[in-house]
Parts: sequence; structure tokens; C-alpha cells
Amino acid sequence: MSPAALLRCPAKLNLGLEVVGVMPDGYHEIRTLFQTIDLADDLAIELHDSELLLETDGSDVPSGHDNLVVRAASLLRETTGVEQGARIRLSKLVPVGAGLGGGSSDAAVTLMALDRLWETGLGLRGLSSLAVQLGADVPYFLHGGLCLGLGRGEKLFPVQSDLSKTVFVLVCPRQILSTSQIYSDWDARLTSSAKDSRLRRFFASALAGQVEWGHLHNDLEGPAAQRAEGVLAARSALCESGAHAVLMSGSGPAVFGVFLEPQQAKDAERNLSAAGHRTYLCRAISRAEYVEFIGFQD
Ligand code: ATP
Repeated sequence: MSPAALLRCPAKLNLGLEVVGVMPDGYHEIRTLFQTIDLADDLAIELHDSELLLETDGSDVPSGHDNLVVRAASLLRETTGVEQGARIRLSKLVPVGAGLGGGSSDAAVTLMALDRLWETGLGLRGLSSLAVQLGADVPYFLHGGLCLGLGRGEKLFPVQSDLSKTVFVLVCPRQILSTSQIYSDWDARLTSSAKDSRLRRFFASALAGQVEWGHLHNDLEGPAAQRAEGVLAARSALCESGAHAVLMSGSGPAVFGVFLEPQQAKDAERNLSAAGHRTYLCRAISRAEYVEFIGFQD
């Protein structure tokens, strides 16, 4: 295979996540703060006359039409009427079903890449309406960086704040959680966030130039911890490692520690890994870096 494009599909962290309530269509309304990180899947794309073929090394992900990469490519073909195909190789490095958005990122990068390679010319605006059909987190990965997500997470508002000096240590329990299961476990009585948004207080502190991580919280951590005991174990291990703040991402079970000192983060990651945890040392990818990080030339 001599690929036309070699790309990276970055994971995201939900720095905070508040469930506001359930919408009339049954979806949960949320407020969340997304941040892309440098943990990423690899995607190699080669043009093909007509067929859409996917090879993947991850045993946890579907290989056929259920894979979000194939669904994204098929949707772009159906929408634009393009007849070209592609051979795509996906190397999964982002843990699956961990709350890190790996599948959504793969889908968004596939849309952006094939829109260029097939010259379908939809651009970000045109791709947004396709992205939201693939999943609530997919539109975010068309933009990356730090973003407030409202609605189901698809209404996006870029946030100007510099997290480039922050280092994240991820601990990923080896358990796959279903996002829809965790939302249906969510119980409105467990949270007061609809009325008292701690995310808002975080914004106020960030805008004042004094990021107060203590304001952040994930309403889904309780339900996730009930299903995956690794969530509490990861939280305790990160707290003991001296993390400045510890949060769960998305619907879990991945938990991350915020470190303000790079050396302390490196030491923590090494010790947690030696103790048998599945760990990753990561940094934030800003919106300015995003396109280049993925591997697009412009
Ligand atoms: P989110 O935080 O966006 O809710 P997640 O990180 O918890 O999602 P993913 O790793 O994106 O979860 O996978 C969710 C589901 O999507 C899994 O059941 C998986 O089988 C399916 N899936 C389909 N295509 C992919 C893909 N390319 N990568 C990962 N999962 C995929």
C-alpha cells in the first residue's frame, strides 16, 4: 500500500461534563468542555476506483460497515454521489469504549481526508451536517482544541485558553463501557448541575487567567463507577500520585490526572504503569495545532 494520506485521529478528554436533563427526543442534554490530546489512532488512505475497503488491527472494533470509518466514507459518497473508493488502514491506539472519543475522531478525520482526496468540496461547513449524523461527538473533531459543547455536545463554542503547559496522565481501566448504558444509568437526583453550573465557574477562572481545575466535575462518573470498579481505583491511584485534579472523561472508564509539573507527571505515569495500570502521558492539542497534528498539509 502506498497511501495517498497518512493521518492521525486524536482522542479527546471531557475536562468537565454536566448532564442538564433529557430532551423530548430522549437524548441527554449536556454541557461539556472538550480538549483534544496527542494520543491518536493512525489512518492510512489509498484511493481505489470503486470499492471501500477497511483493514483494522483492533480486535475491539467492528471491521465492516459498522466501523465509523466506513460509515463516514459511505455517507460522504451517498451525499455527494462520488463513485471513487478508498482502501483504508486503521491502527487503533486509542482505547475503545473508554470515553476518549476514538471512533468519533476516526470518523471526522475520514470525512475531512476523503473530502480532500475525492475533491467533493464540502469543507467544514458541509461536513458538519454529515458529522452529526454519525455521532454527537463527531462534529467536535472537525475543529479540535478547547471547545464548549452544548446540546448533545454538537453545538460548539471555541474557548480561548492556553492549556499548553498542562500535562495529563491517563489511566484506562481495561473495561469497555457503553455510552448509552451510562446515560441511561444517570439519575437526575444525583446532580445539581443544571441549576448550579460548576463549568461556568471554571470558565470565569480561566478567563481571569487563573485556571481553577477544582471547579470541574463529570456527572457520569457515579454511574460509570457503578459499572466499572476500575474507575475508583484509577481515581485513587492518580490522587496518590499527586495529581492537581482528577476527572473521568466522557462516559468513562478512562480517568485522567492534571499535572502542572511535567516531571511530576512523568514520574506518576511511570509508577502507575509499573503498578499494572494502562497509562498514557499526554498533552493538549490546541486548535491552532490541530490541522497539522492530524497530518494535513494546509
Ligand atoms: P465517546 O466518548 O465518544 O462516547 P468512546 O470513546 O467511549 O466514545 P469509542 O471508542 O469511540 O467509544 O467506541 C464506541 C463504540 O463504537 C464501540 O462499541 C465500537 O465498537 C464502535 N466503533 C465503531 N467504529 C469504531 C472505531 N473506528 N473506533 C472505535 N470504536 C468504533
